[in-house]
Amino acid sequence: PAIHHKKDAAKVASKILGALRSPYRLATIKATSPVTIGVSIGISIIPADGKDVETVTKNADLAMYTAKETGKNRSVFYSRDMDKKAFEKWEIEQGIKKGIQNREFRLCYQPLVNMQEKIIGFEALIRWNHPELGDLPPGRFIPIAEETGLITPLGNWIMEQACRDTAKLNKSGYSSLFVAINLSSKQFEQKDIVDNISSIIQRTRIKPGNLKLEITETCIMNAPEEAIKKMHDIKARQPGIQIAIDDFGTGYSSLSYLSKLPADLIKIDLSFVSKLFQSNNEKIVNAIINLALSLGMEIVAEGVESHDQFVFFKQKKCGLLQGFYFHKPLDYIDLCGILEKGVYV
Ligand code: C2E
Ligand code: CA
Ligand code: CA
Repeated sequence: PAIHHKKDAAKVASKILGALRSPYRLATIKATSPVTIGVSIGISIIPADGKDVETVTKNADLAMYTAKETGKNRSVFYSRDMDKKAFEKWEIEQGIKKGIQNREFRLCYQPLVNMQEKIIGFEALIRWNHPELGDLPPGRFIPIAEETGLITPLGNWIMEQACRDTAKLNKSGYSSLFVAINLSSKQFEQKDIVDNISSIIQRTRIKPGNLKLEITETCIMNAPEEAIKKMHDIKARQPGIQIAIDDFGTGYSSLSYLSKLPADLIKIDLSFVSKLFQSNNEKIVNAIINLALSLGMEIVAEGVESHDQFVFFKQKKCGLLQGFYFHKPLDYIDLCGILEKGVYV
């Protein structure tokens, strides 16, 4: 009640943040280093942001979540925009549940080619046509699916569908075509992921040798010891299965862990490829290629869009290529169509 302006509230918030910032020594823990805690503060103002307790606290909560999402240890004022975003998120969350039942999701397959531009496999990429919001890119709904736990049913559907389609292609004459499936970090961290993968392989009768799992560098480096153990588990249970490190170059790999990773491929992040001829990116890409080769891993350059980029990677003898220059992500039917034209290895 002593607050007259928005900026008075901001002052109080910054005092709280300041007071809590100093380190603590905990008497009960024999830790040598002091402990620090962080605070995220959401602020809503009466009556502008609500006239009853529920609305005001709900809006302060929304502001607090924004404070957390934008880096923590800060205070953020509620704004109407947050309501809109929260509603959209809720709408997407509800939509994912229904979408799985109503078959609104589909998979596209983007071919991976070798130096001779022959297709040797493809990456499964999810697409969603939302009944109200229209086509939504995976970047809009995968993070929400992760947050809400819906990634489990969605991820299982993706894996099952991709393996089924691939096994069908393998049977119809393209016996060595592989599918690469993205595993989100929440999915990879699940306790029963190894069992899940195994039962999907069994059900769909895909050969493990025709299956690659893509895990991002960031996901692995979140908890490298656990990740290494899990990767070994997956490979022991399903001999022949391969693991690719996705978005490589964006995740601050520690070199000491990199040499221990039981990965088979490294996918150079498309941000390096799209700006290949700018600043020092060529040198960085060269270093990544040399590093991967010396660790006995194969290289995939993703996001190849131009002839010059293709020539660059061809000269480096960088094994596999993926990008709009060769093929866009295709529906299953269209993939079958181009395979029939004899572009298969
Ligand atoms: P990602 O795994 O790095 O996938 C590659 C993305 O780059 C795809 O975007 C693909 O369409 C796009 N791309 C391919 N070639 C080119 C190119 O030459 N130029 C440019 N500019 N882009 C290219 P998409 O399909 O929108 O997917 C975005 C991200 O969403 C993926 O990044 C992946 O992290 C996630 N995602 C997509 N499908 C799945 C899925 O089934 N499961 C999970 N967990 N994540 C998925
Ligand atoms: Ca990927
Ligand atoms: Ca990638």
